[in-house]
Order: sequence, then C-alpha cells, then structure tokens
Amino acid sequence: ESDLELITRLIRPFPDFPSKGIVFRDICPVLKNPAALAAVIDLFEQHVRQTHPLVDLVVGIDARGFLFGPLLAQRLGVGFVMVRKKGKLPGPRVSVGYTLEYGTAEAEIQEDAVSAGQKVVLIDDLLATGGTLFAACELMKQRRADVLGCLVVVELNDLSGADKLKPHSVFSLVRY
Ligand code: 5GP
Repeated sequence: ESDLELITRLIRPFPDFPSKGIVFRDICPVLKNPAALAAVIDLFEQHVRQTHPLVDLVVGIDARGFLFGPLLAQRLGVGFVMVRKKGKLPGPRVSVGYTLEYGTAEAEIQEDAVSAGQKVVLIDDLLATGGTLFAACELMKQRRADVLGCLVVVELNDLSGADKLKPHSVFSLVRY
C-alpha cells in the first residue's frame, strides 16, 4: 500500500452531516494513524520544497488547518501563523468577511503575523467551495504578503474551489 493509498483508505464519508445532502469527509482517522499523518506531512513537504522553496511562513486555517500546519512548518524550518474565526485573536488585527453556504463569517489574522513581501503557503484540511481559503488569500493581500499556493488534504472537485482561488495554485492529496 502506498502512502497515498493509506491516506485515502482512512478518510471516511459521513452522509447527511452536518446537514442533509452533504457528504462530510472525516479526516480524524488520518490523525489517529501515525504513519498516515507522517505521510500527509511528507507529501506536503516534498511539494513545497520542489515548488515553493522560498517559502517564509505556513499559514493555517481555523480549525483543522491547525492540525497539519505546524507539523509542516517545523519540517520546513519556517514559522506558523493562524487565520482565525472572528473574536479569537488579541491585539491589532486585520479582518475579512466571507459568505458561507448559510450566512456570513469573518476571518482574522494579527496585524504583525505576516509582513509585506513575505512568501506564504496556506493550509487547510479540505477545499469545498473555496470560500474559506479565498478569505485567507484576501487577508494575505491586505498584508501585501505573497501567496505561493494553497495545500489541502482533500479537494471536492464538483464545487470548483480551485477555480475560485485562481490564479493561486491548489495542491491536494485526495480528490472526490
Ligand atoms: P469551503 O470554504 O471551501 O466551502 O469549505 C472548506 C472549509 O469547511 C474548511 O475549513 C473545512 O475544514 C470545512 N469543511 C467543509 N466540508 C468539509 C468536509 O466534508 N470535511 C471536512 N473535514 N471539512 C469540511
């Protein structure tokens, strides 16, 4: 079994979660399996070293981007920064609003988290419509940081999230 086969086998579908008609892709078994979690980070590390060797920071998205982001940042020898949901971060912040399937949300970073000209990769567990990563890209734009690319464990092809994020690239391990 290859690393990618192991990761793919462990991702579980839960129909009708969190609401009817949605198939939720659960990555918890990947976290629970040390070989699979190491394989995820190995594949991300290889990609970033080959494609974005000048990366300065890994930026993780609330909340499951926080599970993979710091591990990757440590491997790459760079720092990790959080994009959080509104109201969680202290001090001066930059915010951006975005639309969800139902209603709206706000994402924030600390103003001093990323500086102009820094090169970042964004990381989350899953890309659906792309709204969440798009908001994170907007935050990076406000700070005049340079988004090298987006990394996700799972990409849901039908929702065209990668199109929404253009011209930024999306690197995904598993696609449905
Ligand atoms: P988007 O903004 O691309 O529509 O949704 C992506 C965000 O919602 C990610 O932060 C992700 O954690 C969460 N999300 C949406 N659907 C799923 C899913 O099926 N599985 C997991 N693990 N996360 C999901």
